[in-house]
Amino acid sequence: AVGVLAVVGRPNVGKSTLVNRILGRRAAVVEDTPGVTRDRVSYDAEWAGTDFKLVDTGGWEADVEGIESSIANQAEIAVQMADAVVLVVDGLVGMTASDERIVRMLRKSGKPVTLAVNKVDSQANEYLAADFWKLGMGEPYSVSAMHGRGVGDLLDAALDKL
Ligand code: GDP
Ligand code: MG
Repeated sequence: AVGVLAVVGRPNVGKSTLVNRILGRRAAVVEDTPGVTRDRVSYDAEWAGTDFKLVDTGGWEADVEGIESSIANQAEIAVQMADAVVLVVDGLVGMTASDERIVRMLRKSGKPVTLAVNKVDSQANEYLAADFWKLGMGEPYSVSAMHGRGVGDLLDAALDKL
């Protein structure tokens, strides 16, 4: 069976944009409205000769109820079913309490995590990634899902852990 890579992170950080970039087509729904991906959605993907399943998830927010908490549950289920995880954070916004909660959830899962600092659209914004070393998830990979910047290096690192 092929490995499963789940993409998690709080709403609006660019998870679905990253999934589309990796697939090389627009399959995942991207919206300016946070939390549009309500369920986990799985796609067949391929990178550098490796076939894998790529799972897009709704935003993970802790301490919420109702619909929001069921989205969080879907993200947790996605992590449980995954062989490895890409945690996406927003370089323009910086580190948030939500990011830290997600990290705690991921730690408990024991799954290998690769950290993607998204929205680093230019070389001049590279410095934005360094702050995320504090999350304790290893090297922060700066990427621009929108422009494709850094996505190859991120995938090399993430698929290495499958
Ligand atoms: P999700 O909720 O995490 O799936 O986030 P989306 O993929 O739906 O993206 C949320 C918003 O961030 C959209 O307006 C995207 O166009 C924008 N976005 C995603 N990736 C990038 C990026 O690399 N750079 C910039 N500047 N914006 C991005
Ligand atoms: Mg989405």
